Amino acid sequence: MQKNELPKAYDFNTTEQRLYTWWEKSGFFSPSNDPGKPDFDPTKKPFVISIPPPNITGGLHLGHAMFVSLEDLMIRYHRMLGEPALWVPGSDHAGIATQLQIEKALAGEGKTREDIGREAFIERTWAWREKYGGIITEQIRRLGASCDWSRERFTLDEGLSRAVREAFVTLYEKGLIYRGPRLINWSPNLKTAVSDLEVEYSEEPGNLYYFKYRLADDPSKYLPVATTRPETILGDTAVAVHPDDDRYKNFIGREVLVPILDRKITVIGDQYVDREFGGGALKVTPAHDPHDYEIAERHNLPLISILNRDATINENGGKYQGLDRFECRRQLWADMEAANLVLKVEDYTLNVPRSQRGGEIIEPMISEQWFVKIEPLAKPALEAVNDGRIEIIPEHFKKVYYNWMENIRDWCISRQLWWGHRIPVWYCGDCNKMTVAKEDPSACQHCGSTNIRQDEDVLDTWFSSGLWPFSTLGWPDETPDLKYFYPTSVMETGYDILFFWVARMVMSGLEFMGEAPFHTIYLHGLIRDAHGQKMSKTKGNVIDPLTVMDEYGTDALRFTLLVGSTPGKDMNLSVKKVEANRNFANKVWNAGRFTINAISQAPASAENPPEWTPADEYIHARMRAVIRDVNRLFETYQFGEAGRQIYDFFWSEFADWYIESAKIQLRRGGDQAYYTAWTLMRVLDKCLRLLHPFTPYVTEELWGRLRDASLAKGEGYTAEDGWGEALIIAAWPLSKEIEDWESAAVSDFSDITIEHTKALRTLKTDLGIPVRKKVNAHIITGKKLNQKFIQQTEYIRSLASIDNLGLSEKITGQDALKGHPSASIPATGSVAYLITSEDISNEEVLDKINAELKNTEGQIKRLEKLLASDFAIKAPPPVVKKEQEKLESFRAARDKLKKQLESVE
Ligand SMILES: [Zn+2]
Repeated sequence: MQKNELPKAYDFNTTEQRLYTWWEKSGFFSPSNDPGKPDFDPTKKPFVISIPPPNITGGLHLGHAMFVSLEDLMIRYHRMLGEPALWVPGSDHAGIATQLQIEKALAGEGKTREDIGREAFIERTWAWREKYGGIITEQIRRLGASCDWSRERFTLDEGLSRAVREAFVTLYEKGLIYRGPRLINWSPNLKTAVSDLEVEYSEEPGNLYYFKYRLADDPSKYLPVATTRPETILGDTAVAVHPDDDRYKNFIGREVLVPILDRKITVIGDQYVDREFGGGALKVTPAHDPHDYEIAERHNLPLISILNRDATINENGGKYQGLDRFECRRQLWADMEAANLVLKVEDYTLNVPRSQRGGEIIEPMISEQWFVKIEPLAKPALEAVNDGRIEIIPEHFKKVYYNWMENIRDWCISRQLWWGHRIPVWYCGDCNKMTVAKEDPSACQHCGSTNIRQDEDVLDTWFSSGLWPFSTLGWPDETPDLKYFYPTSVMETGYDILFFWVARMVMSGLEFMGEAPFHTIYLHGLIRDAHGQKMSKTKGNVIDPLTVMDEYGTDALRFTLLVGSTPGKDMNLSVKKVEANRNFANKVWNAGRFTINAISQAPASAENPPEWTPADEYIHARMRAVIRDVNRLFETYQFGEAGRQIYDFFWSEFADWYIESAKIQLRRGGDQAYYTAWTLMRVLDKCLRLLHPFTPYVTEELWGRLRDASLAKGEGYTAEDGWGEALIIAAWPLSKEIEDWESAAVSDFSDITIEHTKALRTLKTDLGIPVRKKVNAHIITGKKLNQKFIQQTEYIRSLASIDNLGLSEKITGQDALKGHPSASIPATGSVAYLITSEDISNEEVLDKINAELKNTEGQIKRLEKLLASDFAIKAPPPVVKKEQEKLESFRAARDKLKKQLESVE
């Protein structure tokens, strides 16, 4: 292989790992302006992203691939703009998810977490984290993520744990954290509270049970009540009727008997009651239903909890104590039937709350939990978006954000787990008071007793990840990093965690830092399969990004995700698309091979000032336009559209038209060969820079080769912004004002060379002549022949594979052209003829056209018959429409063939 010559195909396998290691070792992932280094300039504005910390339990999925691709694109773009760019990486301890992993392993040994105790359990979890917690970050590296790994953080590391303590104690001292009984979503399997957001409702068939609530002083009279969960009858503390309901309003204030238990409760009047539902009277179980809980608050009703933590019946359930909730339902109902308290049972569609993790039925339960008072935090967070300090992209998510923030309930932050930040509250065994402290206390703050014990619960994972943008920079310490890099710039994540995470970061950033944590929230959509279906293991339609990268390379996967994405919208992904983009990477590589080869063979410099050809001017003008478009699109976060434009330009304009034209120009040698090689170099250089944030590997590899080949030829091949050390830190191509010559340069080449070449190629295809087979042609320009046209005939000749290309203004020698297939070119008003007689006899052409005509007419008959049949009525309209369209296109083809027939005859 010659020096400078590229391998025939791009080999991503040997390239990716090598480049990533080199980038990282060279320090390119660290911000160019760093408060920890000499020559730091605090006035330079940095661009900062905090990574959405992946769970340490997670294996790489497409959701990760999506956010890594988008964030890396933004970081690389800003780095190339010359801004100090910092992307802070890290991972999340993921309370429930990680604990479940360890419990599963323990179960395999026939043990529970209680068997080994809290300390040993946590030790074991740390060991697991040491062993497996790095897998996900390794996989993120593979995607090309240019994070500053020297600043990597973990939500449970020492600094972040200190931040959590600081936040908890500060909020507690401000009166924004309190402990109290609350109706929470209880997961009986996990034995922990789960947030509203972790509960999914599913429609399932069930029953509606009708029964009697008898009057205590006159058991012959009763209120008909309906419920979907009969076991909760045991916890009823009132029966409510609508105050305007004539049937029942006389019952208000009287006492009724709880079935079987015969406990007396009161009938109340409440507007909430739906008179149409069930019998029109409502049983009120405040300890096990959120709506009933609200009614109880209005009427000051007692709360009676009937469930243990494992969802068995507790001591309040009388003789049903100890039964599982569903067994209790069965037995209680049977007993009520026997006691003649049952009216009927109907089929009914239930909206069942199920755990997002695990899937079991969630029970609303009263429990002592820790809460954050959310209203004082939500208000400033609402304002920050309202007054534009924070932008949300796409904008329509603002409405969703407002709506959620306005209706937000206090945040239950305690979880009954062991893996996480343990709540920094100690209870005194002597005076019963609480000590809440940043440092572990050795004695009670109030009475000095050493008889204290720490709260058993840990904090919700989102409590620590809510502090992420500033805790990762050193908060609560006033570190140089925190001072310089906070607030960060863009928070990029899936719209599905806008509330779980993003809203909490906004609230805590405003509360603890006094400043919004970022100025822009960019939300990407979810990835679905090729048919728009959600990917799931049970459906078997999950695409594994690691397999895809193995097969097609990282660049192909990244480009597919980035170009397919529109902010906030779900995208459909198929491996076919990735494969097509692998072909694009190869196309880029081949264009690079051609260019580098051209540079090495062309003169090192020119003897005279340039005389640009129409092809040169065209590609320069188009390149300038594409740079303007891409910059505009990047500035407005339309990265997908920007990628599509670069792709189209590279493939259809640079590779298909300019490189093909360059072959002619290079053959001419001398100055023209030099200026052509120079143009190839300039355009390829710009394209690689624009493509770098999308496809970092192939562009870096090729750019390095292009630079070396150019440097080897000396000053005659200088990149406009210079040849630097690496593409990753090379300058981003900036827009230049549009100049007068550009539009004419584009239309001259495109109207003459491109349009005429296309027309002649189409004529060949229509006649079944291979595109590369050389034939003669003639163009009638219809108006005065200009220099531009004459200049470009050689391109047309070469690109359309034409032997002799005649050119005349008017239709002179009409007889000679008569009978030859022709096409008119509207852009110039000219007509192109394909001179077929030398190659194909008229008879051959006629035979061919006739055969095709026969086939086409056959198709028309078939479709006409089909559309006149039952099919047109019975088939779905889109299918019928498709057949009609087919018929139309066959009819158009028939007309065209008939015309061709006339022209040959
Ligand atoms: Zn005490």
